[in-house]
Amino acid sequence: MAVMPHTRIVKPPTERAPLPHLADHATTCATFSWATARALLDGLPDGAGLNIAYEAVDRHVQHGRGDRVALRWTGKGGQRRDLSYDDLARETSRFAHGLQALGVQPGERVFVLMGRLPELYVAVLGAFKARCVVTPLFSAFGPEPIATRCEMGDARVLVTTPELYLRKVQGLRTRLPGLTHVMLVGEVPEALAGEPGLHRWTDVMDGQPHAFTIGPTDPESMALLHFTSGTTGRPKGVIHAHAAVLAHMVTGRYALDLHEDDVFWCTADPGWVTGTSYGIIAPLCNGVTNVVVEAEFDAQTWYEVLERERVTVWYTAPTAIRMMMKLGAEALQGRDLSALRFMASVGEPLNPEGVLWGLQAFGLPFHDNWWQTETGGIMIANYAAMDINPGSMGKPLPGIAAAIVHRTEAGVQVVEAPDEEGELALKAPWPSMMRGYLHEDERYRKCFVDGWYLTGDLARRDAEGYYWFVGRADDVIKSAGHLIGPFEVESALMEHPAVAEAGVIGKPDPTVGEVVKAFVALKPGFEPGEALRRELLGHARKRLGAAVAPKEIDFRANLPKTRSGKIMRRLLKARELGLPEGDLSTLESDEK
Ligand code: ATP
Ligand code: MG
Repeated sequence: MAVMPHTRIVKPPTERAPLPHLADHATTCATFSWATARALLDGLPDGAGLNIAYEAVDRHVQHGRGDRVALRWTGKGGQRRDLSYDDLARETSRFAHGLQALGVQPGERVFVLMGRLPELYVAVLGAFKARCVVTPLFSAFGPEPIATRCEMGDARVLVTTPELYLRKVQGLRTRLPGLTHVMLVGEVPEALAGEPGLHRWTDVMDGQPHAFTIGPTDPESMALLHFTSGTTGRPKGVIHAHAAVLAHMVTGRYALDLHEDDVFWCTADPGWVTGTSYGIIAPLCNGVTNVVVEAEFDAQTWYEVLERERVTVWYTAPTAIRMMMKLGAEALQGRDLSALRFMASVGEPLNPEGVLWGLQAFGLPFHDNWWQTETGGIMIANYAAMDINPGSMGKPLPGIAAAIVHRTEAGVQVVEAPDEEGELALKAPWPSMMRGYLHEDERYRKCFVDGWYLTGDLARRDAEGYYWFVGRADDVIKSAGHLIGPFEVESALMEHPAVAEAGVIGKPDPTVGEVVKAFVALKPGFEPGEALRRELLGHARKRLGAAVAPKEIDFRANLPKTRSGKIMRRLLKARELGLPEGDLSTLESDEK
């Protein structure tokens, strides 16, 4: 594999920032233990266990920090609302009481299907207090994905809006006999009054006591049921326990460097695990002000939020970064973003161009980090105090042992030599490790071999311990004896000024096994055509060598992506080969 030529970004001593929590990666890794880190949390009073909502909300009130802003919300129409930790403790307690009043039992499933409204946050945390299991769904899901997930996950309660209910849920009720309560946030139309099991949100909340004593919560009890992004196939239902909150706390501290005075913005929707772990739990556990923006992506709106809210730590995703790059750094002119001190990215490989563009546009690099729905929290990261090698996902979190491995007949063989590609594996367990795939025990068991959790992602580790993403095992291309990671090819294409986005697949070929084919979306001002195609082929060949460079390039206006913003290479491939398109429940933008 060619080595990324980008120079390392050496971090100067902190300028805009407080002293990083993780000042020295190696030292902290050597001394860290999850048992000791547990002291960062309180646990329920009287040793009654560990509950996410207590750590995220009530604990701050107990410690006299209740008047600090917990959620700073901006609605689509520009409305603003602040909820302090006191407010959030009260509202979530009322909701927990409301669930109890309806007879909803601990362990039962509460699904949320709505845009990023304050009530969503109250419902999620209130349900944790009532020891219910939370499943967030993307509000943009169509009726079928909603129905299958509710069926699979035994939804007992659904919190949604009247508009979403009418459009997407009403017609499904007969398929969901277990769904006994639907709570509607917002003005409920007359036509719905009297429909069985429907409740106005305000009726659920009205008259409920402002304090709620959380019942004993076994840290191992199920807290979240999260569906994966469906990038590689049918989404899996991933089970997480309350114990995960320790990993949320620690990763918020170390990987995102959250300090109490921070104003933090995670742009992910809670329909995706990032929007729950880092859009709700981790920032609140760390006591910061958590910015919530209802509106969807729009570069100018986002820049406005960063400036107006004086966001200090920002966590976003490569797709959004590529869209901002497409517009150019000029769009940032005149903005005062001096409060911003740390920027991070997750969800897909972050091309080196993206990291460097951060430096150019914001004066700060994007810090890539890696994790999965299954890992529950950030596992590999670029830290505030650590130099960045653009294109690398960084180093494992303290408390996490990672390795590059090969699966063999005899079990897992750990690769000791640097720079060798293999599957990324994590030593089990850690607090936020998934506790199961819902109704798929066999599949869950197969993820663990010889005490390692096998991630299904291919990577390599360099001599300094930095990890480099190669591709998902499913996406890796085998061509004339070479293993080619799509990420490397996509990153090389992204270096060309015309390219906004690239997705690379292997196309079966009788001679070499697979040939590399790229799909490319162009930046504004560039037109697809034969000359540009040849130029890109030439650029990639020069950059990657003939064996790895794409042989074919097709232009697309957009690449197909999941709602969490991941390029769906499997769909590019299925369409190219005329094969069935598979589960498309999470497909967002479509090129067709
Ligand atoms: P499914 O499992 O349903 O196919 P998914 O794997 O995309 O969907 P998620 O759990 O949301 O569902 O995503 C985790 C995956 O996203 C990782 O396994 C990895 O392939 C990719 N990913 C996340 N962060 C990074 C990163 N920083 N660099 C490279 N890949 C990343
Ligand atoms: Mg996955």
